[in-house]
Amino acid sequence: MGTPPDTLGDMIEATTTEALAGRPDLKSLTRDELRAWMVEEAGEPAFRGDQVFRWLHARLARGFDGMSDLPQALRVRLGSAARIGGLELEDVRVAGDGTRKLLLRTEDGHRIESVIIPMQDGRLTQCVSSQVGCRIGCDFCYTARMPVRKNLAASEIADQVLRAVEVLGEGERIGNLVYMGMGEPLDNYDQVVRSIRILLDRQGQDFASRRITVSTSGVVSRIADLGRDVPVNLAVSLNASHDVQRSRLIPINKKWDIAQLMAALEAFPLPPRRRITVEYVLLREVNDTPEDARRLIAMLRGLRDRVKVNLIPFNPWPGAPYGRPEPASVDRFGATLRDARFNVTIRYSKGEDIGAACGQLDGEAVAA
Ligand code: SAH
Ligand code: SF4
Repeated sequence: MGTPPDTLGDMIEATTTEALAGRPDLKSLTRDELRAWMVEEAGEPAFRGDQVFRWLHARLARGFDGMSDLPQALRVRLGSAARIGGLELEDVRVAGDGTRKLLLRTEDGHRIESVIIPMQDGRLTQCVSSQVGCRIGCDFCYTARMPVRKNLAASEIADQVLRAVEVLGEGERIGNLVYMGMGEPLDNYDQVVRSIRILLDRQGQDFASRRITVSTSGVVSRIADLGRDVPVNLAVSLNASHDVQRSRLIPINKKWDIAQLMAALEAFPLPPRRRITVEYVLLREVNDTPEDARRLIAMLRGLRDRVKVNLIPFNPWPGAPYGRPEPASVDRFGATLRDARFNVTIRYSKGEDIGAACGQLDGEAVAA
């Protein structure tokens, strides 16, 4: 343990920090958990949990003081027994194509990013982060280079959406939510699932489950859990056409190889008319050759009606050991898959000029 505090200031500081750490973050609880907490920990009726949940997640309250339908004495008690986690919005950057990047700060001073992307159909897609940095360490991904690695709390994941709601203009609405920002969602499983339950809740933001997609680099042990726990869409970053290549790009492939990943995709529960998204980042002369396309087709043959393939031309970042293929070779790769009757989309990322594209997120503002 550290040395005892030697000034009054230090002592107050230490007490405050410890007290804060010990207080439960009510914003990270699902509504059911909040109802149970009210009964068991606060000795209040369960409906008070619903009230607090609505204040936090629908009415965007930042403190207990303003929760006007709660008795004053309870508000004071909650203020000393519990806390409200979340994020501060530091900056919003707007790219030439309308993509907005929110720069957010955690209570303990880490920076994270979330991106709002205008889609062709006029809807907005928001890309949320699940961790500060990422432990998976993919060679082509900027987030992996961040020195800090930390799980986000459910309140910090949900708050990316709430902060976004506050910056949207008149008539704008987040249509789709993708867990494709910084971090590996299935490496922070409990908080990610909590955040999804919170965002799906009818008394909160009331997202439709078909509008939420979780992307994983292939944490196979958790894919089945996800399918069982929450009815969201699954995306998998395949990014390679054989095991040696994939293990080089995505180290987790050494733990769960392509065959195990394919088996998990086959077993994943899919509601009617939904598909699993297979993401494939195209790296010039690494995984973009005609042989790669052929191997990919063979690998996915049994899953053709269960998947759609998103081809993502690599987004370069300073010092990246990879390059983006020429458009003609991207098109050729896509055409080969389409000829084999795969559902294929080529996704040129948006917001590149503000460092908001896939794999460019690092928690720092890029000079625009
Ligand atoms: N950790 C999860 C989700 C976040 S990464 C995952 O890996 O799936 C989101 C997507 O961005 C992944 O498909 C990843 O392969 C892709 N990506 C990472 N770096 C990229 C880059 N520099 N250019 C293009 N796509 C990239
Ligand atoms: Fe992590 Fe995904 Fe980046 Fe890999 S691609 S390092 S899993 S965020």
